[in-house]
Amino acid sequence: MRIARRATDVSLSVTLALDARAKALMAEGRDVINMSVGEPDFPAPAVVQDAACALIRSGNVRYTAAAGTLQLRGAIAKYLTDTRGAPYETKHVTVCHSTKHALSGAVLATVQEGDEVLLFLPAWVSYVEMVKLAGGVPVSVPSRADLGPDFDAIRRAIGPKTRVMLLNSPSNPTGYTWTRKEVEELAAIAVKHDLVILSDEIYRRLIYEGEPDFSPASVSAEARARTVILDGASKSYAMTGYRIGFVAGPPEIASAVERLHSHLTGAPNSVSQAGYLAALQTEPPEVAKMKAEFDARRHVLIPELLRMGLATPFPRGAFYAFADVSPYLDARGSAGFCEDLLEKGNLALVPGSAFGVDSHVRLSYALGVDRIRAACTRLGAFVAAHPRAPASTRT
Ligand code: GLU
Repeated sequence: MRIARRATDVSLSVTLALDARAKALMAEGRDVINMSVGEPDFPAPAVVQDAACALIRSGNVRYTAAAGTLQLRGAIAKYLTDTRGAPYETKHVTVCHSTKHALSGAVLATVQEGDEVLLFLPAWVSYVEMVKLAGGVPVSVPSRADLGPDFDAIRRAIGPKTRVMLLNSPSNPTGYTWTRKEVEELAAIAVKHDLVILSDEIYRRLIYEGEPDFSPASVSAEARARTVILDGASKSYAMTGYRIGFVAGPPEIASAVERLHSHLTGAPNSVSQAGYLAALQTEPPEVAKMKAEFDARRHVLIPELLRMGLATPFPRGAFYAFADVSPYLDARGSAGFCEDLLEKGNLALVPGSAFGVDSHVRLSYALGVDRIRAACTRLGAFVAAHPRAPASTRT
C-alpha cells in the first residue's frame, strides 16, 4: 500500500519506542531498568479512580461537547485563574485527549505553511514533528551551557517568517525551569515581534525549589493575548493512561482547536473528564506526596551522576536529568550509547539526539530510589568500562 509522505517522513516517537523496547525485553525475562519514558510510577489519586468508576457504573458514558464538558472547562478555568493571576472562563478552554493532543491541535491552529517556529533546545521529541506535520519550519535555538535560554541566540533566530515560539518550563528533557525574569524577557520579545507563545506547562506543578513557575500568560494582558497554555492531568495527577489535557488561551484559539478536533478526534474521553474534574475539585493528598518523592529521588540521582563524572545541571523541576555523556560517544552518538547501554548494561535511557542535543542522555527518575541506585550502579559500570574518546574526536 502506498503510504502518504507525511506519514513516511515521521518516525515513531523515540520515547515511546524505547519504552516499548524496554518493556518487551522485560517481558522476555530480562532484568532491564527502564528510565526511558516520562511516566509517574504512582496510581492516579483515589478520588480520580472513584469518579471514573462511578461514571462507568452509571452507564452514562456518552459523547460530550467536542470542547469537553462545561463543568470540566469551568474547573480548568478556575484553576488557571487561581494560579496564573489572570481571569479565565470556559470560553478560553478546550479539553483535549491529552496534552500531546492539545499541543498538536494548537500547532495546527497557529502554524501556517512556511511559518517558522522557534524550538528551544533541547526540545521534547514531538515538537519538531508536530511543526513539520503542520507545514511549518522548525528553527532550533541552542541553549546556554546550564541549559537555560540564550536570549542572544533567540533574537538572532527571529526572522520575517517567525510566527510562533514553543516554551516548555519546566523542561522535558532537562528539568530546567525558566525564571520569572526570563519568562518576562521572552514575553517582551513575543510582543515586539508579534509572535505566538505556545507554553507547554505540563510539568508546572512539579517544581521543587527556587521561585515558583511563571507563565507568559501572567506577564501582562498583551502577553496573555498571544499565549496558549497547554497542560493536562498526566504528570500532575499520575493520570498518563487516562489521556486528558487542555488548550487555554484567547477564545479564538480555544474554538479553533475545538473545530479541528470536532472532525479529527471528536469529544474527549468522558470517563477521563470525570476523573480530571474530581482531581481539580479536591486537590488530592496523593499529589503532594508524589511531588515530595520525586524531589527525594532527584537528590539521589543527580549526585550519583556527578560522582560518575557526568556533568548534569541540577534540575529545578519535572522528573528528568539530562547528563552529558560526550566523552563516551563514538560516531553513532547518543543513540549508539543508549543502544549499547540497553543491550550490555540492561538500562534504558533516551538519547539526547531525540531532543536535538546529541552530547547528552535523558534519565527519567519516575521510579523508586532502590531502582535509581541500581541504575546508577549499571551506568557507572558501563561508563567505567567504556573508552573515553579523546576530546578532539568527540561528537
Ligand atoms: N512525555 C513523556 C516522555 O517524554 C511521555 C512519552 C511521550 O509522550 O513522549 O517520556
